[in-house]
Amino acid sequence: KDDQSLVESEKPKETFADVGGLEDVKKKIRLNFILPLQQPEVFKAYGKEAGGSLLLFGPPGCGKTFLARAVAGEIDANFMHIELQAILSMYVGQSEHNLHDFFQKARDNKPCVIFIDELDAMGGSRHQMRQHHDRMLVNQLLLELDGLQAQNDNVFVIGATNTPWYLDSALRRPGRFNHLVFVPPPEEEERRTILELKLAGKPADSLQLTKIAAETKFFSGADLGQVVQDAVESAMERTFETGEIQPITQDDLKKAVKARKATTLDWFA
Ligand code: ATP
Repeated sequence: KDDQSLVESEKPKETFADVGGLEDVKKKIRLNFILPLQQPEVFKAYGKEAGGSLLLFGPPGCGKTFLARAVAGEIDANFMHIELQAILSMYVGQSEHNLHDFFQKARDNKPCVIFIDELDAMGGSRHQMRQHHDRMLVNQLLLELDGLQAQNDNVFVIGATNTPWYLDSALRRPGRFNHLVFVPPPEEEERRTILELKLAGKPADSLQLTKIAAETKFFSGADLGQVVQDAVESAMERTFETGEIQPITQDDLKKAVKARKATTLDWFA
């Protein structure tokens, strides 16, 4: 595998409509990222700088990656997903070089959203060699972010971390990851919306999703996706037994909820 093939650029089909809830987060992203692109004259009039980067944080499975893809979908941009853990495991020198290539590739494919996952992987190491290695990568990332800011390139960077308090403070300065946005676990009403989205178009009884939403406190969006997948499997099993398409039932969902755990709870502990 050559270095360039590590990160492919793609055009996501997801939009904000596919992301259940998170209305405040979407609003903030619209105002700071999407509207400046669509109506630059408004931003000019107020002397407000467009650009900068967004840092999403919160418990796993609550939609950080999904949102980042949806931002690209909303503005019809390319999307590149960089997993820092993979870059960090490269030889010293190689990882900075690759990071630079990824940003270059994004500029060649603009408008482009770069999503940098696992930002907390950087700087967490106690091993001295690793620390030095991490430091060089942080420095390279700072260079790239400052370069984008200077050129106003229509390349948007969205970072994600589960633990923002471990993040190198240099990354949080103006023009870098200056917008910090919490992506919380879904509230009851949002859980119902997410269940609806995941069940859309599937054969189902008339389901009381409000009840399921009430019973899934601290479930992440990913947990709810799994619940629906489990329920789908039960219905499919019946379908294969009977030879006729069987609807997903309330009971399928209830059983699935019982078998799953709420994964966001640990994050708050
Ligand atoms: P991690 O910190 O583990 O990377 P994450 O916050 O990036 O987690 P995602 O990968 O975005 O989580 O979410 C996993 C899956 O859960 C998504 O692919 C999506 O199907 C579902 N999901 C999560 N949140 C939502 C949401 N608000 N609406 C619809 N689907 C969601």
